Amino acid sequence: APLIEIKDISFEYEQTKALENISMSVQEGDFLAILGPNGSGKSTLLKIMLGLIKPTKGSIKLFGVDSKQFKNREWVGYVSQKSNSFNSGFPATVEEVVAGGLAKKSGLFRRLPKSAREDVKEALEAVGMEAFIDRSVSELSGGQQQRVFIARALVAKPKVLILDEPTVGIDHQNVQSFYNMLASLNRDKKITLVLVTHDVDTVTDRITHVACLNQTIHFHGFKEQLHT
Ligand code: ADP
Ligand code: ADP
Repeated sequence: APLIEIKDISFEYEQTKALENISMSVQEGDFLAILGPNGSGKSTLLKIMLGLIKPTKGSIKLFGVDSKQFKNREWVGYVSQKSNSFNSGFPATVEEVVAGGLAKKSGLFRRLPKSAREDVKEALEAVGMEAFIDRSVSELSGGQQQRVFIARALVAKPKVLILDEPTVGIDHQNVQSFYNMLASLNRDKKITLVLVTHDVDTVTDRITHVACLNQTIHFHGFKEQLHT
């Protein structure tokens, strides 16, 4: 069964139709980019995939199971758009931030168990940030912080990682290496990736599938779901 299967989904806020009759699926191993201009429903679609809101109409299956019956959501990792605007001067180390992804699973702890430090190291290696484990997060660049937040999601060992506009805080010259890192997560660590962006230019040859939500054609449906 597909990892995520969306059938004929619509979603309406009080006044606004955000999504209308969307169908799409995500297979294990995909690196999917969901594209669309501001207001086309990308965030709404993500919230539906994450189970944060229920579609007004239509169904969503996770691993072939209707999402209404699906209890365990640890299989999905999520990195929100806001997590990379981490500039509060909050004195957290990289290790503490990444371990936060474990705390969600196993409750809070005062001191990291040894096994947790190993998990944190492994997650940081996967995003190329192992050398920064004892650094303060607030000293890092936008792109480095984004990698740390991805490691925080990875440490809980999700099957699929959902990223909301991950390149927004990253310098132009570092975007390509950021995509290379994502591609290696997809290829070597077998992480299914779903990435949301409004920037067509950020879609590189690393991505295996593209889905477009497009308001400009007055149809909130997918214009295409291409295999490359
Ligand atoms: P995108 O992420 O592509 O910018 P959204 O999913 O955020 O699109 O929004 C889709 C449409 O739904 C837009 O017209 C937006 O203004 C509207 N919308 C989003 N969130 C809400 C909300 N909480 N209440 C009412 N309308 C909303
Ligand atoms: P994002 O695209 O990262 O979700 P937005 O700025 O589009 O950021 O939305 C921020 C929050 O405001 C979201 O939770 C969204 O649901 C809500 N929102 C967006 N548009 C509207 C709207 N027209 N009315 C009410 N809430 C909205």
